Amino acid sequence: MYDDQVVIIGAGICGLSTALALHKKGIKSVVMERSESLRNVTGAAITIRPNGWRALDQLGVADILRHTTIPLQREKVVSLDGERQQEISLYHCVGETRCLRRKDIIDTLYAALPPSTVKFSCQLESVKQDPHTTKPILRFMDGSSIIAKVVIGCDGDKSIVANFLNLAPAKMFSLCEVRGLTYYPNGHSLAHEFTSFKKDNLLVGRIPIDNNLVYWFCTQPYNLKDERIWKDPEVIQHNTLELLSNYPQEIQEMIKTTDMKSLSFKRLRYRAPWHLSTGTFSRGTVIVAGDAKHVMGPFLGQGGSAALEDAVVLARNIAQLGLNHVEEAFNRFVRQRRIRVLRVSLQTYFIGMLSSNSSRLKKFICILLVILLFRNQKSHMDYDCGTL
Ligand SMILES: Cc1cc2nc3c(=O)[nH]c(=O)nc-3n(C[C@H](O)[C@H](O)[C@H](O)COP(=O)(O)OP(=O)(O)OC[C@H]3O[C@@H](n4cnc5c(N)ncnc54)[C@H](O)[C@@H]3O)c2cc1C
Repeated sequence: MYDDQVVIIGAGICGLSTALALHKKGIKSVVMERSESLRNVTGAAITIRPNGWRALDQLGVADILRHTTIPLQREKVVSLDGERQQEISLYHCVGETRCLRRKDIIDTLYAALPPSTVKFSCQLESVKQDPHTTKPILRFMDGSSIIAKVVIGCDGDKSIVANFLNLAPAKMFSLCEVRGLTYYPNGHSLAHEFTSFKKDNLLVGRIPIDNNLVYWFCTQPYNLKDERIWKDPEVIQHNTLELLSNYPQEIQEMIKTTDMKSLSFKRLRYRAPWHLSTGTFSRGTVIVAGDAKHVMGPFLGQGGSAALEDAVVLARNIAQLGLNHVEEAFNRFVRQRRIRVLRVSLQTYFIGMLSSNSSRLKKFICILLVILLFRNQKSHMDYDCGTL
């Protein structure tokens, strides 16, 4: 057992960006990741909205990432049932929106950290509080332990640190999502726009990352027919093509020629907004951030950006109050983030309910609440987490 000052659990977007934000404020941390190497393959890509770019600017990596992806000009929703087509100009009405390969964001955050910040193959098993010193004791699967001064749980939607804080487990939507990347060696000639195609209960999104690479996803009702879908890309591809058999040829072709290694299947989870409004997200010198705190559906494309915002606000508070007053810094962080995270999670939850097979009454109430609470439905992107 040895002593470490600031221990971050999980080297996803939140853990890496929190370590980087602390590093920029002169605070050393160590990140303990359960995987053997950087988890930069799963999940294909994510869309980053203007609020996320503001956070990346503060972390000093936005310009590096801008070189990896094109700015999107428009967002289009095409109903394949023959009706409406909605279109908004992203560039003029919303601001900077780009789709990033997860590999690029993870690799860039990692490269900006001092060497040996991340320790791999370190799976947290439990957190306990030392009854004498009240310091957190972290126990890992390999039998080792650490007494930490500060613990930041960025260990995702099945967080062990959240269990220590007695947070209710994340809930599940009756929806799942398949994601993939398709590479076009001779260029794809698609417009620089985020297009969603809707038909029946399915939604397919298509977003160019650059002139050769396209990210796509398919949101569908969760209906597990074949267990192998969790692991086997062939099954993911086969099932998706079967579901989309009456979708346009170009969509089917994109899925047929997708990079098999990039395919993933995920049941969608969320932390209930009512738990976010009342939950205790820190105890003593232990706190959660990112998906461990507020996992949300992907419908607004805000989970990753909210994790980046967390990193900036958390590091700012720790730097302002110092490690000797970290409990107060955590309380301030939780207070400052509560309304922001609650609003974006609530809006996401309503969209999730509208896309799920919930009752007509539930859907009607959701529509009413969206109209009442989110008059400007794009306002979640206007948020500015402030300077680091
Ligand atoms: C289908 C889908 C589409 C999405 N699209 C978007 C989008 O377009 N835009 C957007 O902003 N967001 C999007 N998101 C959300 C975004 O992916 C997440 O909010 C973001 O990745 C959260 O990062 P995180 O670091 O908090 O958690 P994770 O990415 O889950 O990282 C957690 C890390 O902790 C590690 N870990 C877990 N348990 C332990 C343990 N016990 N010990 C040690 N390490 C551990 C894991 O291996 C992992 O590396 C999407 C999510 C889904 C599911």
